Amino acid sequence: MTPCHPQPAPAPRSVPSAELRRVAALVDLQRLWTDFLMPMLVERTPGSPGSRRVRQHIVDSLRARAAGWHVELDAFEARTPRGRLPFTNVVATLDAGAGQRLALACHYDSKVLAPDARGRRFVGATDSALPCALLLELAAALDRDLQRSKEQVWLGLGLGLGRPGAWVLWGAELRLGPAPVPPPVCPQGAGVTLQLLFLDGEEAFGAWSDSDSLYGARHLAQHMATAPLRPGARTTQLQAILA
Ligand SMILES: [Zn+2]
Repeated sequence: MTPCHPQPAPAPRSVPSAELRRVAALVDLQRLWTDFLMPMLVERTPGSPGSRRVRQHIVDSLRARAAGWHVELDAFEARTPRGRLPFTNVVATLDAGAGQRLALACHYDSKVLAPDARGRRFVGATDSALPCALLLELAAALDRDLQRSKEQVWLGLGLGLGRPGAWVLWGAELRLGPAPVPPPVCPQGAGVTLQLLFLDGEEAFGAWSDSDSLYGARHLAQHMATAPLRPGARTTQLQAILA
């Protein structure tokens, strides 16, 4: 079998201000508030009914997008000062076959706190429902662009395999030119894709410590440090995340 090489990460490039304005105008503040943030403003401590509802809201919102997110649940149990509790991370990858990932993360659990003097429950609006709602809005606002970028990667791969000199820039254009013959690109190994991480159990149950905090992030990092990007690949899922 001919050895293949993952595509190098595309060099960062500046985005023209007109393009930035176009993208920024896609953000819909009403949708962000009504569709994405409001359903999250409930108590959602790990393992609670609110946590399950919010997780389903995240999964449903991503699956409703045309871009075709690959959504996985990373469910596990961990010992906490309140006993063994269930946690579930949501991992959404735009193109699971891409060789590299740009990961954006938030945590969706709310901290366990007693109701205040007026009996109000803590719903963690800024810490951290809003960042999660922003990621869902990003997926909605950029849905068509993300869908197109994915199609271009696949188009590029199709051309690139049979035609030396064809390179793909993620989210950008296909460039064909008299480039030196490149090494064969690993099947499904090209390009950078977007990955959204909705982490559970960020908050400590007691005093913040190395063992009582970041339950979801620690579990996912441990899993990704050994899980191959694809069956048989030497690159791990963690190494595929752009530093
Ligand atoms: Zn937090």
